[in-house]
Amino acid sequence: MEHSPTKTIFVFSAHAADFVWRAGGAIAIYSGRGYRVRILCLSFGERGESQGAWKEPGITVDRVKEIRRAESARAAGILGAEIRFFDSGDYPLIPSAETTREIVMEYRAHQPEFVLTHSYLDPYNPDHPAANRIALDARVYAQAAGYPAPGAELGAPPVFLFEPHQPEQCEFKPQVLLDITPVWDRKRAAMESMEAQGHLVDYYTDLGKRRGVQAVRNSGRKGIKQAEAFERVFPQVTEDLA
Ligand SMILES: [Zn+2]
Repeated sequence: MEHSPTKTIFVFSAHAADFVWRAGGAIAIYSGRGYRVRILCLSFGERGESQGAWKEPGITVDRVKEIRRAESARAAGILGAEIRFFDSGDYPLIPSAETTREIVMEYRAHQPEFVLTHSYLDPYNPDHPAANRIALDARVYAQAAGYPAPGAELGAPPVFLFEPHQPEQCEFKPQVLLDITPVWDRKRAAMESMEAQGHLVDYYTDLGKRRGVQAVRNSGRKGIKQAEAFERVFPQVTEDLA
């Protein structure tokens, strides 16, 4: 049986733009290496993360969703990723049983090499832990032989949590620093395309620089200018500690 040689990675995004700020560099790096990057976007962030769009007089929730969908699809395109929208609603984000099943089927169909998702905690936005939960829960269900979904059981793809907006309050500890210097221009362009949240571009540019400085300090690789931080969920299995 022929198998596609293309490897896939998954990026969960609670809202329309989360993947851009927090993992845009990782996405651009892997799409540039020929990976299929599949963003699973659980909601448009229409209530909680669309401040700019709600300033327009007479705006409706459907119009906000349309604007955010278009922005999000455009940013995914800039980063070289594909995106699937689930429209599960935000504030609160409560994925239905059917959505959970759909995500299990995503895992079985695509067998991702690794998974990026939100942190366990976020006192500023309960939708982010909700997205963490569905990413991890569906991964476990997809591994279970008895779960009634088509496709082969899932192996054990590593899961990395991307950096939340206020990491200290979310008990986020950077364990992995990914050099995103070569794709920085693409991440910046994707961030600038998110017009409803333009106020965040400088914030995430500064954060990337700071993580870049830390990446140099921890590796001695002086060429690193921009980095993204991640935390591992499961132990790294290796035969080599250096
Ligand atoms: Zn969000």
